[in-house]
Amino acid sequence: MAHYDVVPAENGHWTVDPFGALVKDGYVWARGAIDTKASLVCALEAAEALASSGFRPQRDLWFAFGGDEERSGMLGAREAAAWLAGRGIRFAWTLDEGSAVTDGILPGVKTPLALVGVEEKGFLDIELTVAQKPGHASRPPRVQAVAVLGRALDRLSRRPFPFSLTPATETFFKELAPFAGGIRSLAMAHPRLFAPLLFASADASPETAALLRTTVAMTQLSGSKADNVLPSEAKAVLNLRILPGWTIDGSLEFVRRAIGDPRVRVSASPSRAANEPVSASPEVARGCGAGWAALGAAIGASFPEAAILPYMVTATTDSRHFAKIGGAVYRFAPLKLDARELARVHGHDERISLENFSAGIEFYRVLITAL
Ligand SMILES: [Zn+2]
Repeated sequence: MAHYDVVPAENGHWTVDPFGALVKDGYVWARGAIDTKASLVCALEAAEALASSGFRPQRDLWFAFGGDEERSGMLGAREAAAWLAGRGIRFAWTLDEGSAVTDGILPGVKTPLALVGVEEKGFLDIELTVAQKPGHASRPPRVQAVAVLGRALDRLSRRPFPFSLTPATETFFKELAPFAGGIRSLAMAHPRLFAPLLFASADASPETAALLRTTVAMTQLSGSKADNVLPSEAKAVLNLRILPGWTIDGSLEFVRRAIGDPRVRVSASPSRAANEPVSASPEVARGCGAGWAALGAAIGASFPEAAILPYMVTATTDSRHFAKIGGAVYRFAPLKLDARELARVHGHDERISLENFSAGIEFYRVLITAL
């Protein structure tokens, strides 16, 4: 799987034409170069080269490319999965984007890590609203909606979701342990035993915290349209990324209780569809599900220096629609990226190195022949 839609390019922030696909300094510069046109083109390049050399796979191999992943995949991946399910087609496993080979992202870890997403967090927008009688700003009420909302947000930030280990993050920490230095490696090697230690230090890193809890991002605030008018409603939007093991309803209830104020209405946003987190079978979460060996061979061929670890993807991908029709789901794009290259995803000057591009083609060639 891959998707060919992109997020909007901000005019004036790019040093090249975002849609020009310019080849310069050893890179292809283009919006979507990493996210995820590269995987799409690499997969098709490999398939075409194999087909024209006379190769015939032992099993059926399907390609599913969506054009609306950035807007939830309702018209692309969801329809594709439904079409396949309707014809009784079942997959041993599915591969989509969602993670990559990361280089120097985790402090103290020098080995590049091929992080294969086996679990995926859910997505939920929550609206907090406080109503009040609108009117002239010269006669404000004693308790104002904005103040009530502000207090609710403050309470919520002081009552975060609890930390917990999912099956995939437990495997991830265990397998990461040999590559991490010092005392940390001992705690990582036994994440259940040392969970309090792991959790105590997790808040210092947003990346680690995101792996261990449902996160609440406060993203939008609104009140009155005019400076001299009392708002009829003060509203905040929270974007939650739900940890596997939690549900949409359970998360709404948690937020409601954390705020503990009946004046604040807590509801799922009607403007953006929510989705439940995607768990993995115990086997897949341990990094030994169907297709894992073929993936390992393909990663090893293109990125021999990388350690391969199961991982939990904190963003959402189109593959969640395919998870519903069964089989193992992996989220991994054959790209080696450091923090600076990763920051270009959904940012400015997104680009893919020619080196990464050919490693990607080789990845899919080995993967398809290993099926
Ligand atoms: Zn994206």
